Order: sequence, then structure tokens, then C-alpha cells
Amino acid sequence: MTADSSSARRLDRALASLRGLSVGDALGSQFFVPVNYPLLKRRELPHGPWQWTDDTEMACSVVAVLAAHHRIDQDALARSFAEHQDFDRGYGPAVGRLLRLVREGGDWRELAAALFNGQGSWGNGAAMRIAPLGAWYADDPEQATHQAEISAYPTHQHREAVVGAMAVAAAAALAAAPGGPPGAEALLDGVIALVPMRSAVGAGLRRARDMLDYGDAATVAAVLGCGRRTTAHDTVPFALWSAARALGDYERAFWTTAQVGGDVDTTCAIVGGVVAAGKAGAPPAEWADRVEPLPDWMPTPV
Ligand SMILES: [Mg+2]
Repeated sequence: MTADSSSARRLDRALASLRGLSVGDALGSQFFVPVNYPLLKRRELPHGPWQWTDDTEMACSVVAVLAAHHRIDQDALARSFAEHQDFDRGYGPAVGRLLRLVREGGDWRELAAALFNGQGSWGNGAAMRIAPLGAWYADDPEQATHQAEISAYPTHQHREAVVGAMAVAAAAALAAAPGGPPGAEALLDGVIALVPMRSAVGAGLRRARDMLDYGDAATVAAVLGCGRRTTAHDTVPFALWSAARALGDYERAFWTTAQVGGDVDTTCAIVGGVVAAGKAGAPPAEWADRVEPLPDWMPTPV
């Protein structure tokens, strides 16, 4: 195996996960529109095209930086986030302002550290964009977790946001394992072993592991949270619970996740990115066809 063919395979895996992430994001965000609520209940698709949001736009930067640098270069990532920010893609106000200041020459290290009175953001934005990085490092889940940690800092420096990103990347790496995805328990056990446990995200993941045999997603979402507060710890444990139970079945993963509500574009982006990282986890072609194209600055498969 040459270095080139190995990078080509990594890029293919990352793009497969990105496709799942963008479909989850774009279709999930359709269900913020009240006229579509009845469709969600009946599991029917709204008319396309579905526009993706900040989750996909930032994930494209993650993949573009990996393709160019073969690791996370924080300055390149911050620059890409800032240069490609489209104001209308639903960025949170704090990160939206930070990216504008970076574009105007500000130092992301100072700006990201200063957010929220110097605590840094604990929003779910570092986790929502990172599944394709996990798929890239499917052969090395520890490196996936490490690179995800580094990738969070340009925007999210609170420990919970960082651990949330690490957990999603670990899950995507394990889901994309060359021999096929593990079972639900093995996936969450693997994630729990890879991320720092002294955190609210870690506590949530342990609770998610204990609730794997619950049939009712709404009850699980009520306990774990489903992104209503848009924090990492209110988003990641439920998203990984949902992904773990539906590896290899994108449609089931999507509907289960979307129907509990909350920060639906982001929970579905995380679930879609993790499930599509694995074999047989791609979104249906009919769904992918309804999503607007990814931005033209994205790298394409070689
Ligand atoms: Mg979004």
C-alpha cells in the first residue's frame, strides 16, 4: 500500500461521512419549519432542495484541511472557517462574531479563549463538524481522538466542547473500522475508553451506555438532552446513543434522532456523519440527491 493510496482511501472515507453529515444537517434543518412538522411524524420527506447549514460548512473545512495537511493544522483550520463563513448558514452568535474578527486579522487563540467571560464556548459546534475526521482516521481511533481535540480550539475551548468533539470523532473512527462497524455496546464502550471521563460529556456517555436497551428515544432524550441548550454535553451523549443503535441503517438513525426534536440539524449531522462512516451506512441516494451541492472549494476524490 503506497502513502498515496492510503490518503486516497482516507479522503474517500471522510467524504462518505461528510455526505451523511450534510444529509442529516440539511434534512434535519427542514424540521425547524412548522409546515413540515406533520411530515416528520409520518416520516415523509419534504420537497428539495434542502440547504445545509453551519454544521456542513465547517465540516467541509475540516476535510479540506485534512486533505491538504494530512492532519489538523489549527491556523489553516481557523483561516478556512473564517474565509468560508456564509453568514446565512445559522452560525451561533458568539462563533459567528469570532469568525468575522479572525477574517479581519484577529488571533483565534485570544478570541476563542475570551468567549463567555474567558471560559471558552461549550457549544456543540466542535462536535457537529468532526465525524469526517473520525472516518479519515478509521485505522487509528486514538489519533482521531487526538486530532479532534486539536480541531476544537480555534472556536471551542471549554473542556466539554473539546471532549464532545473527541467523542464524536472516536465514534466515527470505530464505526468506520475496516472490518465493519462494531455492535452498539462495543461502540459506546470504545468511545468511553478513548475520551477523558472526568467531564459532563463522559458522564452522559456512561448514562447513554446504560440506556442502550431503552426502546423509547423520547425518554432517553429527556434524560440525556437532545441539544435544546446547544451545549456539547446536552447534545453528544444522545446523538451517539442514537447512532450506536442504528449503525448500518441511515434512515432509521435519522428518523429516530429527528423525531425527538432539540437541535435537530446538529444531532442529525452528528448521527449522519457517524453512521455514514461505516459500511452500509450511507444515506439513501434519493435523500442525498435532494441536498444542495457541497461548496465548490471542497476537495474531490482522486
Ligand atoms: Mg446548523
